[in-house]
Amino acid sequence: MFAEKNQCPACKTRRMGKPLIKLERFSVYVCDCGVKYLDPSLDEKSQIEIYQNSDSISEINKALEQYYEYEPLRSTSQTARDYDRALTEAGKSVAGRDLCEIGCGTGDFLFFAKSRGWNVFGIDSSTENIEKTRSRGIEGIAENVFRYSSQRRFDVVVLWDVIEHPQDPGKLLAKCHELLKPGGCLLVAIPYDPNLISILATLFYKLSFGKVRGPAAQWYVLEHTSYFSGRGLKGLLERNSFAAVKYWKTETDLARYKFAFLTRLALRVLFGIARILGLQNRSIMVAKKV
Ligand SMILES: [Zn+2]
Repeated sequence: MFAEKNQCPACKTRRMGKPLIKLERFSVYVCDCGVKYLDPSLDEKSQIEIYQNSDSISEINKALEQYYEYEPLRSTSQTARDYDRALTEAGKSVAGRDLCEIGCGTGDFLFFAKSRGWNVFGIDSSTENIEKTRSRGIEGIAENVFRYSSQRRFDVVVLWDVIEHPQDPGKLLAKCHELLKPGGCLLVAIPYDPNLISILATLFYKLSFGKVRGPAAQWYVLEHTSYFSGRGLKGLLERNSFAAVKYWKTETDLARYKFAFLTRLALRVLFGIARILGLQNRSIMVAKKV
């Protein structure tokens, strides 16, 4: 279930220092390349198993109980705003409108993109998720992306909350590169670190000599392997033949998660402060295939 490593998953530099934070099931390490990573973290097989449906993911993280039942098109949600801007920016970089999402879940992003005139296709390891995606009139295939083989090529490939999961994010980028047409672009949405929550959580941990772990355990979660800064993600992209075109900060759509009332309220206040300070907890990056 767990994979142990002595190197950074993004740049493969051998680990030298001590962990930044030690939690119950894993430690968080910092690499000079701008990436933080968990050790140990879930191996590839377990990553696939937990993302089969909302029940399996909520076993790992209770806040994700309704993760796949969320419909961002119903409102002017943060998710809908993020989808809209991401598609607008990607659309400026490419001439065609063929788009593929890897790890498409139940097809929220693809459904949104289709309504904006994109020709969409989804790949997800979960048969259940792909059945739901298809029931929404979207073409998709239930397949481990590394086993997916086709002559089909796309103008845009989307990794929405995906790149932070695999043990080898570079291998995933190589697959994206293969699926893109020449001049195509990649759209990557990630949890962004450092942000106000991660800074405060680390501060509480350090000031309490490792005793206050609760806030850190909210941000650093077992389903992720890597946490990227802008520099960390840009570096990973460049090493895998992509050039970052544009990136911007955004924040978690709290409506998508199940939280207790006070936790939600506290997060709303923190998000407001983070917005003022430019320390939001998510980022979206557009990168061109080179
Ligand atoms: Zn690194």
